[in-house]
Amino acid sequence: MSSNVITTAGSFRQALSFRWQTVFQAMVCGLFGHQMENKRARVPGTARICRCGANFLSENAGETRVRHILSCFFMGHKYVKAGIRDGINEYLCEQCGHPLLFSADQDPYTGLDRFLKGVRYLCSLFGHRVRLVGEREGLAEYICHCGHSFLRQKQNRTKVTHPLTCFFAGHFVRFTERRGDYAEYLCRNCGHTFYLW
Ligand SMILES: [Zn+2]
Ligand SMILES: [Zn+2]
Ligand SMILES: [Zn+2]
Ligand SMILES: [Zn+2]
Repeated sequence: MSSNVITTAGSFRQALSFRWQTVFQAMVCGLFGHQMENKRARVPGTARICRCGANFLSENAGETRVRHILSCFFMGHKYVKAGIRDGINEYLCEQCGHPLLFSADQDPYTGLDRFLKGVRYLCSLFGHRVRLVGEREGLAEYICHCGHSFLRQKQNRTKVTHPLTCFFAGHFVRFTERRGDYAEYLCRNCGHTFYLW
């Protein structure tokens, strides 16, 4: 068998395996939602493409269903400093875009540009004890002492829980605005936001 034939057979196998990986990814994304990816190296303004090949998380319109990233839930979020807004220090997870917000005068991570922080399972299970910090997008912004934030209909809320819809189906997010280096997305069901480069 000539080396040409071997190379062609090799490329064919590679192409077939790549195709099956894409088909498998598309099935996973269809069942559980797309996977959030927070790539700092991404060129701003270019389309975001999921590993299944779909264009997603458009900054123009439309909604994207995203699944939970289990490594963040069990191993913790990898936060980096994102900026400061109205006296609130903002951080974002480099893997899943989860934000973390603290009043600048009560920020336990002041001075750190990068840190790993585990999920507060008690808050996740029983609800976050929140306070109102502002209003935007026609919604009220609440933050918990654990740093979790929500954009929800304004009410006299002291507690915000994660709805089961999002737990089982993932989040249904849409773009809200670009602030500095990152774009913000909001889940319509739970008010969870995500910050993506
Ligand atoms: Zn996908
Ligand atoms: Zn994360
Ligand atoms: Zn909390
Ligand atoms: Zn949600």
